[in-house]
Amino acid sequence: MGEFELIRKFFQREQAENPAPGVIQGIGDDCAILALPTAQHLAISVDTLVEGVHFPVGADPELLAERALRTNLSDLAASGASPLWFTLALTLPTVEEDWLRLFSRGLFAAANEYGCVLVGGDTTKGPLTVTVQIMGSVEPHLALRRDGASAGDFVLVTNTIGDGAAALAAIQERIALTDEHRAWLQEKFYRPVPRLKESALLRGIASAALDISDGLLADLGHICHASDVGAVIDVASLPFSAAMQSLNDIEQARAWALGGGDDYELCFTVSPDAMPDLALLIARGELQATIVGELVPGAGVVCELDGELYRPAQQGYQHFS
Ligand code: ADP
Ligand code: MG
Repeated sequence: MGEFELIRKFFQREQAENPAPGVIQGIGDDCAILALPTAQHLAISVDTLVEGVHFPVGADPELLAERALRTNLSDLAASGASPLWFTLALTLPTVEEDWLRLFSRGLFAAANEYGCVLVGGDTTKGPLTVTVQIMGSVEPHLALRRDGASAGDFVLVTNTIGDGAAALAAIQERIALTDEHRAWLQEKFYRPVPRLKESALLRGIASAALDISDGLLADLGHICHASDVGAVIDVASLPFSAAMQSLNDIEQARAWALGGGDDYELCFTVSPDAMPDLALLIARGELQATIVGELVPGAGVVCELDGELYRPAQQGYQHFS
């Protein structure tokens, strides 16, 4: 099968009946031509996944595609942006139709779920590599950034954290869990939910935000660095899932929450003035979030437990270190 047949068969979807918003020209020409909604800014991000580095050799292609798109969508959520379009650069060692069919199925499942449209890409031969570039729109001045936080702001996280590292331990059979908890963790790991709904609610409320991909300590450290503040995390307040709690190992749970990666929850900061607006959203059940610390003058992130300095067992994941 040639390159063009491959693209037509697995990645070109008929959109004539219902053209996606803003797609003036999609797959098939030299460039995609796209029109942003009126008076919106473009939010754009790209991520590459390399076989044997970011995912194991022989990974399920359907889940790989889902995860690639979902983690990119998480970057949009971290910026307060709404999804519109994406491109896909795919490097394949060989053309295997069964693999491509599953990959394509996972890709379009996630694309349809979150309403973003594949508008172009590149297909090459080489070691298996998946690059997704996501594009979205954000209202001017309402983008969530890393540099907007101030000393005195509260630090919050959505839902529960540490689940990414726990899921990896479960997949590698390093921990014992009930079938139900194992299935829940695996679902969260392979098909992380980009927190787009939460992110939309946080526009205008959060002073800074990002998505947790390298562990709370490392990622909150980015907000602190960009905003020129320090942070104190109250380790006792970290929110854990039922699956994590079932392990009955609080130290392990804390280490995973602070230093494990792949959570794709939002970490955000809120000024005391904006806390009533946030509290209302939480009380109405529109958003699940927990205060895990506060920002202080200075630099760096420290952890406390019962008023004493707490030393976490494990730092975040860093590439090339
Ligand atoms: P060019 O030679 O101009 O770079 P290509 O041959 O790489 O064009 O691609 C032809 C068309 O197919 C382009 O519109 C490109 O965006 C699209 N395309 C190529 N690979 C993919 C892919 N994996 N997914 C989606 N669209 C793709
Ligand atoms: Mg090309």
